[in-house]
Amino acid sequence: MREEDLATGRGYAHLPGDDEPISLAAARHLACTGAVQRVVCGTEGRIVSIETLDRVFNHHQRRGITLRDGGCLIPGCPVPPQWCEIHHVREHSRGGPTHTDNGVLLCWFHHRTIDSGGWRIQMIDGVPCVRGPHWWDAQMKWRPATKSPTRRRDAIALRM
Ligand SMILES: [Zn+2]
Repeated sequence: MREEDLATGRGYAHLPGDDEPISLAAARHLACTGAVQRVVCGTEGRIVSIETLDRVFNHHQRRGITLRDGGCLIPGCPVPPQWCEIHHVREHSRGGPTHTDNGVLLCWFHHRTIDSGGWRIQMIDGVPCVRGPHWWDAQMKWRPATKSPTRRRDAIALRM
């Protein structure tokens, strides 16, 4: 996709080997899951720069995020961590780092619908917080979210 399209949110993208364009939203979702390398070409077509930063969470980060989140973060979703993808809470294409403080577990469905399904996620001091849609929480408050068995057990013990 063009850099100006990425910046403005208008335009389209292409996948390698396919002449048919895809929407920027579809490209962003693919980019959040797979590997992306930013290559900047000049107006004449010369490659000006290649970004080599790794934007895919490594297995050490994944283990840490799995320990913290315990499964898809959306309340009520039963998808276990081994079937989840890691979502960049602040989009990588918008400068979000590939860091455990910016990655959360989401199942395939919630990852694809996070922009349209009414759920919001933000990180507060490295802790994922979820705000549900109005039908789930009329007050729409930010709440710390986890399905980690250890942290849930601690939370229950605090209530006793
Ligand atoms: Zn889910």
